[in-house]
Amino acid sequence: MTMPDWYQWDAEEKQLYFFGRPATLFWQDPSLITILKPLKEELGDAYFFLLVAYSASQGTEEDYHQMVNDLGEDFSDGLQRWGDITATAGWGHIIQSVVDYESRSGTVIIENPWELTLFPETRTSYAMPFICGKLSGLFTHCFSRPMRARVNLIERHADYRRAVIQIEPSESTLRSELQKLARQEGFTREQKLQFLNKQLQQKAIELETANRRLQELATRDDLTGLYNRRHFMELAQREFNVCRRYLYPSSIVMFDIDLFKLINDRYGHQAGDKVLKEMAVACKSILRKTDICGRIGGEEFLILLPHTDLTGARMIAERLSTLLSQLCIDYDGHVLQITISAGVSQICTSDDLLDHWIRRVDDLLYQAKHQGRNQVICTETAKE
Ligand code: GH3
Ligand code: MG
Ligand code: MG
Repeated sequence: MTMPDWYQWDAEEKQLYFFGRPATLFWQDPSLITILKPLKEELGDAYFFLLVAYSASQGTEEDYHQMVNDLGEDFSDGLQRWGDITATAGWGHIIQSVVDYESRSGTVIIENPWELTLFPETRTSYAMPFICGKLSGLFTHCFSRPMRARVNLIERHADYRRAVIQIEPSESTLRSELQKLARQEGFTREQKLQFLNKQLQQKAIELETANRRLQELATRDDLTGLYNRRHFMELAQREFNVCRRYLYPSSIVMFDIDLFKLINDRYGHQAGDKVLKEMAVACKSILRKTDICGRIGGEEFLILLPHTDLTGARMIAERLSTLLSQLCIDYDGHVLQITISAGVSQICTSDDLLDHWIRRVDDLLYQAKHQGRNQVICTETAKE
């Protein structure tokens, strides 16, 4: 059987050409599935299938003219030939067609229509939108008046299925039904798509916000908003590597609130929490954006000061100590005050690991506690 000009199958490219134009079997095109799937979810089955049938027969008016001309005078025979062609293309096989020219109607029976294989559970009224779209277009042009094609019955046999399609005059064409739906809903299809698009953008923003929040949760300490221990260590390790690579001075301050337990014991845990929060705010207020500050234990903190030598770091630690000692935190009518002990150390060439550097400030902090608290001890002032 030879294929008519208007219908070509390029076996090599696996591409269907319809009147010389590439035609898509829409569900075989992944990009279209991406677009149509959310649309189907949004608009519901009926609207979706109307849309599909509509798009299947849209823009092909001249094609139908040519098709009807090609089929010749006897439309029934032509339809049969058309059936053979569609069978070759895998659409299913038209095994019988009855055309009543007087009442301008027809019945077409298709064996194993391909659309049923794709949507086996689809209800009869929605079944085979593509073939129905094509058939109604064909009959519309044959009879020069609007016709509808609708699946009347699907017969299920052991090893094949048959769809009985009724074609009859109808003032409600796919196009007019679409327009009616659009009017009912108050939106055109374009507006609907714009609406969907806007919703997608909104979802993208929400997702981004949620991701940012997740990132915060993963890297920050809940109570103080400072970096948590794990994230601080990650950032500090990065800074340590760069520092050693480019040999610039950086320093670390470790500090711990003095006798913090007393505040909890005297005024309760909530009072302690409030102190920690206000202390963190004050701490942030004197640090630069590039400084890295983390809560690494209950009331123990580490500050990494990039590009800061020991003299600079000691100044910052002392300024911090003074600032914190001047804080008057109001809790339930009580004024709470704190002091801190701190160790300060600049990175050394012998620091092979971040841990060496941190262990040194930890020792200095311990000395500060041991020597009576409320003081800052630096590497150079440390007693061996
Ligand atoms: P030192 O000067 O030796 O550091 O004495 P200290 O009392 O500060 O030290 P200690 O380690 O004995 O006590 C620390 C206290 O910090 C005990 C713990 O309950 C309290 N703490 C730790 N985390 C929190 C917190 O998130 N909130 C509150 N309110 N208290 C906390
Ligand atoms: Mg303490
Ligand atoms: Mg402590």
